[in-house]
Amino acid sequence: MSATYSTPDQPLDLLAVFAHPDDAELLCGGALALAAERGERVGILDLTRGEMGSRGTPELRAKEADAAAEILGVSLRWNAGLPDGRLEDSHDARRALANLLRMLRPGVVVTHWLDGRHPDHRAASALVRSSVFLAGLRKLESPHAPFRPRKVIHSILFREDAPPPSFVLDVTAVMDRKMRAVAAFESQFGGNRGAGEVYPGGDRALPDQIRAQMAHWGSRIRVEYGEPFWTPETLSFPSLTDVPVSSL
Ligand SMILES: [Zn+2]
Repeated sequence: MSATYSTPDQPLDLLAVFAHPDDAELLCGGALALAAERGERVGILDLTRGEMGSRGTPELRAKEADAAAEILGVSLRWNAGLPDGRLEDSHDARRALANLLRMLRPGVVVTHWLDGRHPDHRAASALVRSSVFLAGLRKLESPHAPFRPRKVIHSILFREDAPPPSFVLDVTAVMDRKMRAVAAFESQFGGNRGAGEVYPGGDRALPDQIRAQMAHWGSRIRVEYGEPFWTPETLSFPSLTDVPVSSL
């Protein structure tokens, strides 16, 4: 991990922890922009610098990542500097991530789905769950005070193997910002029809493919664009009359 970061004055409300720079934008950029617009303290923690990527360089990706974070309104973006292509839910990686979580103190963490085409995505999901637990253990040797985020939420956008979402977030109001943040990664996505787990659909350009998939989730909650999420915990509403999304 990088040793140059110092603990921010205030805890974060929401932290996106994903394997590679650009994953957070693709998978939950709308949710991050929405939270930032609500005045919540939002951060992105990229676990690797994407140095194994076929396109671009880590330096270029870092510049693109900073530009994308600014577009989303995210106030903090850190990189854990773990090895790209070799991400593991190992004890060393857990301790590194637990220390970063103790510094950032996020109430909620959003990350990858449990499985994934890219081995790093699978590993990141397991690593995040393990580290969130470890960060709360009093006896973990660490220069930082124990802290455990309240909740871990998994993005299932573009996943073919995930169960139905626990909920879908209406991101219609920030859809253009999400797409501009994705476009900031020109070295990764410029001219592409697919990207990672966003599989190509004929000659459709990547932005149209992203919009098509997000329009599908939007229609499931009767809005234009949505991002789907999953949690193992059951959700609760105050009353039957507060349950959203019309039936018929
Ligand atoms: Zn990735």
